[in-house]
Amino acid sequence: MDFAPVYPAVFVIGALQCWKFHRTRLLFALVLLVAADRILLHFAYPEAIADGSGQAIVNAVALLLPLNLLVVSLIPERGPLTLRSLLQWVVIIAQPGIIARLLQSDVVPSILAFEFADEMYFSWTTLPQLAVLAFLIAFVVLVARMINDPSEERRAVVWALIAAFLAINAGEGDLVSTTYFAAAGLMLVQTVIDVSYRLAYQDALTKLPTRRGFNEALAQVLGHWTVAMVDVDHFKKFNDLHGHEVGDQVLRMVAAEVGKVSGGGKAFRYGGEEFVVLFANKRVEQCQEHLERLRATIAGRVFTIRSAFRPRRKPDQLKASKKPRKTLKITVSIGAADSVFDERETAEETVKAADKALYQAKEGGRNKVWIRAKSKI
Ligand code: GH3
Ligand code: MG
Ligand code: MG
Repeated sequence: MDFAPVYPAVFVIGALQCWKFHRTRLLFALVLLVAADRILLHFAYPEAIADGSGQAIVNAVALLLPLNLLVVSLIPERGPLTLRSLLQWVVIIAQPGIIARLLQSDVVPSILAFEFADEMYFSWTTLPQLAVLAFLIAFVVLVARMINDPSEERRAVVWALIAAFLAINAGEGDLVSTTYFAAAGLMLVQTVIDVSYRLAYQDALTKLPTRRGFNEALAQVLGHWTVAMVDVDHFKKFNDLHGHEVGDQVLRMVAAEVGKVSGGGKAFRYGGEEFVVLFANKRVEQCQEHLERLRATIAGRVFTIRSAFRPRRKPDQLKASKKPRKTLKITVSIGAADSVFDERETAEETVKAADKALYQAKEGGRNKVWIRAKSKI
């Protein structure tokens, strides 16, 4: 197949990306897929039809690949050169040698082909029953973990597992297995790119897009637009009074409200306790009611704080408990400016103008919306 020589290059690039962005588990998974593919292609398939030794290698790979993928998904993320990771490398690299030795005995190949259930239940697959069981266990555990805590990596490993099953099940014919393995590998490579993108463009605390995203959105916005700076009032005092951790929780809740702003505004975390909202195709007067609604929503919200020590009790028991949960109130000030005010103004100058309006909202007593060249609402 024509793309066959290209795909190792894709894996090398993927592996380098994993290394660079410290995605050790994805790196392990990638190496496992490549190893499985190469072992099957060079050692198993050419002999599989001729004698049983090739089939025994297929059976060994089919049993060990899902178990290895499961283990690398369960271990915590560490750098690729930590002691634990080195141990993991040794385990992965040593396996083919050990298996090759074991396969020389009479017992191991027959264990790998052991049938514990009626053959007719497995007629849909070319894999031996033990391997199907291993894939099933890995699949159930990995899907449960994905549902429990969905992340790009967990999703990718589940798909890689399915593709790995299809690869081995398909067998050698016209490199079909390699095609499936390549698909599995590419999914992992794509995941490294997705994760790196998210790390750069999504704020870890609030999950809002970052200032980098704002700058790019600003550079790409067409026509006229309005920008609004949203700043939490007296947040330093709030932190000093309740602690940084409570501050973080409140910041997350404020961010959730800013993210839901009406009028088609797109919210970003500008930095610290400051957010910015960009309204495309809107003059500042058209944004006023939406910003006012946002300010009022936050001011009217009672933030319920989880205590640092959380007893493992059911919610109904918690409700019945005498100790009241901490509730807090917070306000924001908002300053806005639009690109229509002065056509000669650069985007940076408009953002600065919004910042100036914010300063005036603060001066005006906080918990206010202030728009450029207009009096406060
Ligand atoms: P003002 O009403 O004038 O805006 O007063 P302020 O106290 O909110 O403003 P100032 O800029 O003096 O302080 C901002 C504070 O926000 C300082 C810092 O402790 C806090 N802060 C910034 N980023 C974070 C964060 O990620 N988490 C927490 N908990 N606090 C943060
Ligand atoms: Mg502030
Ligand atoms: Mg500030």
